[in-house]
Amino acid sequence: MSPILFLDVDGVLNTHDGWAAGHDGHDSLDPGPVARLNALCHRTGCRIVVSSSWRGGPYRGPKGCRAILRRLGVTGPFHRDWRTRDWRPADGWGWECKVRGKQIADWLAAHPATAYAIVDDDSDMLPEQMPRYVKTHFKDGLQDVHIERLIALLAFDAPAVVERHRQELRDGAAAAKAAWDRRGGVPVNARFAARVRAK
Ligand SMILES: [Mg+2]
Repeated sequence: MSPILFLDVDGVLNTHDGWAAGHDGHDSLDPGPVARLNALCHRTGCRIVVSSSWRGGPYRGPKGCRAILRRLGVTGPFHRDWRTRDWRPADGWGWECKVRGKQIADWLAAHPATAYAIVDDDSDMLPEQMPRYVKTHFKDGLQDVHIERLIALLAFDAPAVVERHRQELRDGAAAAKAAWDRRGGVPVNARFAARVRAK
């Protein structure tokens, strides 16, 4: 099974130094970090899952940012389910979740992969994910020192951590179901609408 690389874009492939050299993040990305990412994918056989905010929104193109990243030079393979989501399946409806670590945990809980690494210049990851997290800087993004750590991380499994994510998802789903039952099966937003109507 291929290891998974959770990929941020701004601060990893799109950098301050890249801008200074004329790579504005729209027509081109910082070529050094992109080449390092491509080599990493080739060497480790990892699949990319986009955890960046680039993943969302129709303004990123009809095929999503995956097609854009391809056009901008990313050659590594994407996972079939190639992006995280900003809502938690365990909550049953569109409760927004802005913590990137939770979005990653939810993705892992729903897929069989147990070897993964996270590369991001922001650090809103869960405590148990920190050993799998490689922090870059917006100035120059993905560097050789990061690649070395990522190669090491992608080479071994972390089944205990992933099982913990899965258990949390099951617990969350059970809690959401219990709350639903307590409400007599009435959606939260319907109750809210009824309260508004009653006023
Ligand atoms: Mg970033």
